[in-house]
Amino acid sequence: MARAAKATINLAALKQNYLLAKELAGGKQAAAIIKANAYGHGAVQVARYLSDVADAFGVACIEEAMELKDAGIEQPVALLEGFFTADELELVNEHKLITAVHSDWQVEAIASTTFDQPVTVWVKFDSGMHRLGFDADGFRQALQTLKELPQVGQLVAMTHYACADEVECEYTQQQLNKFLAVCADYDLPVCTANSAAILHWPETHGKNTCTDWVRPGIMLYGASPMDQNTENSQRLQTVMTLSSALIAVRELEPGEPIGYGRRFVTEQPTRVGVVAMGYADGYPRHAKDGTPVAVNDKMTRIIGKVSMDMMTVDLTDLPDAQIGDPVELWGEQVDVNDVASCADTIAYTLYTGITRRVPLVYK
Ligand code: PLP
Repeated sequence: MARAAKATINLAALKQNYLLAKELAGGKQAAAIIKANAYGHGAVQVARYLSDVADAFGVACIEEAMELKDAGIEQPVALLEGFFTADELELVNEHKLITAVHSDWQVEAIASTTFDQPVTVWVKFDSGMHRLGFDADGFRQALQTLKELPQVGQLVAMTHYACADEVECEYTQQQLNKFLAVCADYDLPVCTANSAAILHWPETHGKNTCTDWVRPGIMLYGASPMDQNTENSQRLQTVMTLSSALIAVRELEPGEPIGYGRRFVTEQPTRVGVVAMGYADGYPRHAKDGTPVAVNDKMTRIIGKVSMDMMTVDLTDLPDAQIGDPVELWGEQVDVNDVASCADTIAYTLYTGITRRVPLVYK
């Protein structure tokens, strides 16, 4: 019997989540964010499956864009961080990529490149994230220059929110106000909303139905980014189920340690299951004792440190569980956000951390 560890990807649920993003954004254009191998879900498979509905795809770098283009994906692909070196503009031209621009040198690089057709540019404004983007003067200057360039076609004003996942936080509105103020002098489509903004901040979606853009990422994969459940976040459908099986079962007396460092010590007679899933598969090593798992569809918990290829779970209340029985690490029964919080991290790192040892199985 082969090792049972696998990640099952429900593509129909993924499409529903994309359509939910479009619905919440009032039909505006949505660039499905599929950087980092579609947050671990397989970029080419995800892009192919969404290709009949997606307006565009968003990636982090030219290599990710080329993977899609080499696979025959025809939708526009946006480089969310722009290009890293000017020589990438050759591929931007060849594959009609959309490029973000956040720094003066990128504007200059576009100005000194010849394009076969005008390039679409998303000009990034730093409204308060203070990571990438122009300040107000730089933004105006960049727009001024880009508008005059024959190489440039459509211009879109872009920004990114720092805490749209915090339901009560006023900073998102402040960022939006700053962005709208700097955009007020121009009649440009905007591209602002990530998943959290799509789910919770309708003001960020833009006013112009056909040309404004939203950028859903994590919500496509069914995990809520919000710091508390909202009506919209509860409409997300689970996409990835990470599962494996029990490979050994043992009974321990009280007072016996389990695993590396003897972190967990039994307090009562304990039935322990060993699961073929470890940190080399991408499961978080920092998952605490008590992190939820489901064995045979019944909820139980991790006991003992996660090791490279295995982890140990409590089967004391599951006397019938035996070798070969299925274990869900996250998915339909175990909320990926619960696992993430037990490991002091977020669903994004869990999804993107799945390693190549774990086959992705599409259904
Ligand atoms: N837009 C940009 C520029 C991003 O960097 C990201 C992701 O980090 C997204 C959109 C999607 O964000 P989320 O996955 O939170 O929806």
